[in-house]
Amino acid sequence: MSARLQDKIVLVTGASRGIGYQIAKQMAAEGAHVVAVARTVGGLEELDDAIRRGGNSATLVPLDLTDAGGVDRLGEAIHKRWGRLDVLVANAGALGVLSPIGHIEAKVFEKTMALNVTATWRLIRSVDPLLRLSPAGRAIVMSSGAAHSCRAFWGLYAATKAATEAMVRSWAAETENLPLRVNSVNPGATRTAMRALAMPGEDPDTLPKAADVAARILPLALPELTETGQLFDIRENRFLAYRAPL
Ligand code: NDP
Repeated sequence: MSARLQDKIVLVTGASRGIGYQIAKQMAAEGAHVVAVARTVGGLEELDDAIRRGGNSATLVPLDLTDAGGVDRLGEAIHKRWGRLDVLVANAGALGVLSPIGHIEAKVFEKTMALNVTATWRLIRSVDPLLRLSPAGRAIVMSSGAAHSCRAFWGLYAATKAATEAMVRSWAAETENLPLRVNSVNPGATRTAMRALAMPGEDPDTLPKAADVAARILPLALPELTETGQLFDIRENRFLAYRAPL
């Protein structure tokens, strides 16, 4: 079988562990050159080793995504080196804190918004022109069921993911006449560090592995994908319909 992402340039954020690590590894195994972003150099190097063992290559970018200038320079560097970006996987995110809305500390609120919303916007802004230069640009932005369930104590995280989804839908509407396809993903509860932080009493063995979730995300990067501005639900393995506009 031929590699499904041969010679594609793929940018994956949050690639040092969890779902992002697995997406990066699997996309590289499909022939993509992965540009892997996170703060933890050790995690990126582990990924690099795994990708090399599979006979492929990656570019490691140790970067705090809340460094707006760094995100801008990342887009410029990709443009200079490859002249385009084929796939964006905006996966990095943080839980913030599970707390009653009225008890959230301002610093925690701002920090979580800065990563989940502002940095995601800044990244989109940085690479949107590069995705338009690809013959089949694909953007995959990680959301969460929390954006829709809005459960007690999940308000901060839910608000960041709802904001991101709204931004992605608008971006999709702006680009629907282009080859570019942009979608949100709800991975569902997954066996990662973030989930363990949210649910410390839960047995991780009862949850799907990040590798299995990543395998279902990968088709959203392929040139044959037609959907845009939709939410892909990993557990159901299908796009969910958004409500019609009011
Ligand atoms: P993890 O906490 O395991 O990994 C998060 C990744 O984001 C790490 O690679 C981390 O790298 C990176 N990251 C965090 N902060 C920054 C930063 N400031 N700059 C750059 N990179 C950063 O999370 P998951 O793999 O569980 O989650 C991945 C995505 O899926 C997230 O957007 C999450 O909200 C979403 N999601 C996860 C669910 C789950 O059950 N796991 C359920 C629903 C949604 P480093 O620390 O090295 O910077």
